[in-house]
Amino acid sequence: MKTIISKIEKKQLNNDVIEKAGKILRSGGLVAFPTETVYGLGADALNEKAAQKIYAAKGRPSDNPLIIHITNMEALKQIVSDIPEAAYIVAEKYWPGPLTMIFHKSSIVPYGTTGGLDTVAVRMPSHEIACAVIDAGGGYVAAPSANTSGRPSPTRAEHVEEDLSGRIDMIVDGGPVEIGVESTILDVSVTPPMILRPGAVTREMLCELLGDVEVDATLFEEDSKKAPKAPGMKYRHYAPKAKLCVVEGAVDMVVKEINRISAEKMQKGIRVGIIGTEETVGQYTHGNVKCIGTRQDEATVANRLYAVLREFDGENVDYILSESFSGCGIGNAVMNRLLKASGHYMIHV
Ligand code: AMP
Ligand code: MG
Repeated sequence: MKTIISKIEKKQLNNDVIEKAGKILRSGGLVAFPTETVYGLGADALNEKAAQKIYAAKGRPSDNPLIIHITNMEALKQIVSDIPEAAYIVAEKYWPGPLTMIFHKSSIVPYGTTGGLDTVAVRMPSHEIACAVIDAGGGYVAAPSANTSGRPSPTRAEHVEEDLSGRIDMIVDGGPVEIGVESTILDVSVTPPMILRPGAVTREMLCELLGDVEVDATLFEEDSKKAPKAPGMKYRHYAPKAKLCVVEGAVDMVVKEINRISAEKMQKGIRVGIIGTEETVGQYTHGNVKCIGTRQDEATVANRLYAVLREFDGENVDYILSESFSGCGIGNAVMNRLLKASGHYMIHV
């Protein structure tokens, strides 16, 4: 299959491109498009056969459920069986935006979209291009991240092309995304609501609205210790090709330790990549050093995280050493993704 790649500007929504994307989705095809979090791989969520194509294109295990993207609250009422009060409160403040909520599904949602579950994940994105594509595609678009299963999520159209060219009908290229890590997932089908994946809408922000919000215990622990809440959470995500080691501690100690380990590895002929920050990159003495952002604003780190992991993939690095981050605010999402990408391989200094 030849993949059509069409560029489009946010401020100049080219109707031909949106119309074409909508037509492909309505006829059961696959279209990748930008959202504010990462690029999504879209299919008609209410067409079981179309949704199945997503699993085939990504090589995604079929019990890993998809998120349905909508653009309005009327659409939500069609696909869920009830909307708890907490969901209205959260939607009022954070929809449209980088937040997914889990509900009990209605009968029109096929099990092929939910990985066999009676619950459904729903998001209302804010990205203008995403909204235009969803509306043109019929209003219910299942869209996981547009990467080969297990690889870092795509934050630019070129990343989607690398992974899925020839396997999907179309890529709508709207330039780099703003946030860079996937949406926060909040399960509102349970009381109190529970965070299943951290993202740009943080626990602090949700607690302010709802009071009590729990966090799934498996998020920052080794996957094997407890059964995860959602089937998808058991899979190793976001993995670069090289082995990744996260070094945690006071920043000056971390830099020292990374310098020590990288020197040792390089002596053995191992090619080392280092994930540093604006504050530290000048202090590294060995290896292929990349600046991921500034410690002053960890949103910059979230934004570059997946692109940096992909760059190392392209540069044949064997071993990546990364600094660790605060774990507060969006730093929480960054640490969750780094731990998943490293298979929880962390050194404390
Ligand atoms: P992705 O769209 O690839 O970023 O991943 C979607 C993730 O959303 C899945 O891997 C699950 O962890 C989560 N998810 C989707 N649907 C449900 C659901 N019904 N219940 C719990 N988690 C879900
Ligand atoms: Mg994904």
